[in-house]
Amino acid sequence: MDSNPPTTLPLLSEEGAPYLTVNPSQTRKLGEILAKEILKTKPRKDAFLLGLEGDLGGGKTTFLQGFAKGLGIKQKILSPTFLIIKKFSIFNFKFSNFYHIDCYRIEKPKEILDLGFKEIISIPQNIVAVEWADRIRKIMSKNTIWITFQFINKNKRKIAIKK
Ligand code: ADP
Ligand code: MG
Repeated sequence: MDSNPPTTLPLLSEEGAPYLTVNPSQTRKLGEILAKEILKTKPRKDAFLLGLEGDLGGGKTTFLQGFAKGLGIKQKILSPTFLIIKKFSIFNFKFSNFYHIDCYRIEKPKEILDLGFKEIISIPQNIVAVEWADRIRKIMSKNTIWITFQFINKNKRKIAIKK
């Protein structure tokens, strides 16, 4: 069943229930809520990894703008055209860095591996969000949180979060 974006936690424990957003700020808000929830999770043995997949214009970058805000990042999150990996500092006692990775221009997972992906996702102080993560599915870790974006019409997007 579809539901409107929640304004409260928890998002992570609700298995796969899709949210319907009707404007970009609702999508940003969903990202912001998820980020705040991640900051409260127990420490892990490796990075906290999000895999974003789905339609072009589906709202992946928009979602990550809210997500970064939720992590306390002040810089703008853009669609990286030539930059594949962008690193931001987080001022939090558990996490130190947020990596925004965009695989839109990637043809083979090796291109991401050559940029140090394995190390980035092995460090527990990192939060890593990968757009077009389906293109590198085989090198994403097993405990990735997958987020699927579906373009419904001009302003509606269906967003599902799955563990
Ligand atoms: P992606 O990164 O998935 O390709 P973007 O976030 O870059 O998508 O682009 C989404 C576009 O759709 C933006 O221009 C945004 O303003 C617009 N938009 C309209 N409605 C929504 C919505 N409900 N959620 C997210 N983006 C929306
Ligand atoms: Mg994008």
